[in-house]
Amino acid sequence: TEALLEVTDLKKHYPVRAGVLRRQVGTVHAVDGVSFALGTGETLGLVGESGCGKSTVARSVLRLVEPTSGQIRLDGEDITHLSKTALRPHRRSMQIVFQDPFASLNPRMTAGDIVGEPLAVHGLATGKALETRVATLFEQVGLRPDQMRNFPHQFSGGQRQRICIARALALGPRLIVCDEPVSALDVSIQAQVINLLIDLQRQHGFSYLFIAHDLAVVAHISHRVAVMYLGRIVEIADKDELFRNPRHPYTQALLASVPVANPLAKKLAPLVDGDVPSPVNPPSGCAFHTRCRFAMERCKTERPALLDAGAGHQVACLLNDGTGRSQQGVSS
Ligand code: SF4
Ligand code: MG
Repeated sequence: TEALLEVTDLKKHYPVRAGVLRRQVGTVHAVDGVSFALGTGETLGLVGESGCGKSTVARSVLRLVEPTSGQIRLDGEDITHLSKTALRPHRRSMQIVFQDPFASLNPRMTAGDIVGEPLAVHGLATGKALETRVATLFEQVGLRPDQMRNFPHQFSGGQRQRICIARALALGPRLIVCDEPVSALDVSIQAQVINLLIDLQRQHGFSYLFIAHDLAVVAHISHRVAVMYLGRIVEIADKDELFRNPRHPYTQALLASVPVANPLAKKLAPLVDGDVPSPVNPPSGCAFHTRCRFAMERCKTERPALLDAGAGHQVACLLNDGTGRSQQGVSS
């Protein structure tokens, strides 16, 4: 099947400047060569520790930040460098749900106006028709139509995220980017919101790029999972395959910290020993070599490519390139 979204070798580098003369002292490698495809009706989970570049990938896909290089294709069309005007028809098909529902809702607008605004801006409905459409959207996300008159502060955190989801649904998107949509919510509410997202996908058939630092949350909603480390995808596979047979030492460490019996039961503890190195001038070779328990001498200089590892599984680790030692026995 043709991919709805195709991202190829995406990079986003920022200069770091210092001093009165604002001289460049380094480069932030926020996203450092990310490639993936997302099918229609599919959910790709993008997981990694904070600062690994997940949100920058999300914002680049939506053209909210300009990539340094690489390509973003939507429905086969290269949208990487489209002008604002040329991008406008695509804006409807790509929506985003942010982490903090309160910060992304205008406190002076009613919930009904917030959800109806995109429809009004795009000239898709007015008056009674607009009100009816907004009422339907409220019902679709599990809110009551009479709550349209209320302001954001009159809703709970979970309800506010439902408002954001209704707003994202309004224009009939084909892709919804969810950037840590439940991270700010109580654990008891997280599953409700995730299940709502799953139900909506079943009804409408859109795709999610679902970003989270919490592997358990990603596991619940995703069909495939991509693991990011310091601006790169280090492993990508079908969800079940990834959880059953993690191949990258970083993924193995992440999974070791997931509570098995009830994955949504608690927030994850810190995942891997040692701090994430700074994305300013990141480590050479395999960026994970400073924390990897299997690191070899060549890991400091050779950058592993994301290579096929069978079963639809891709891994970026020198243990997997046919020249390192076998991965057998590394897991477990
Ligand atoms: Fe560890 Fe080397 Fe594999 Fe990187 S390439 S994950 S440092 S073994
Ligand atoms: Mg983020």
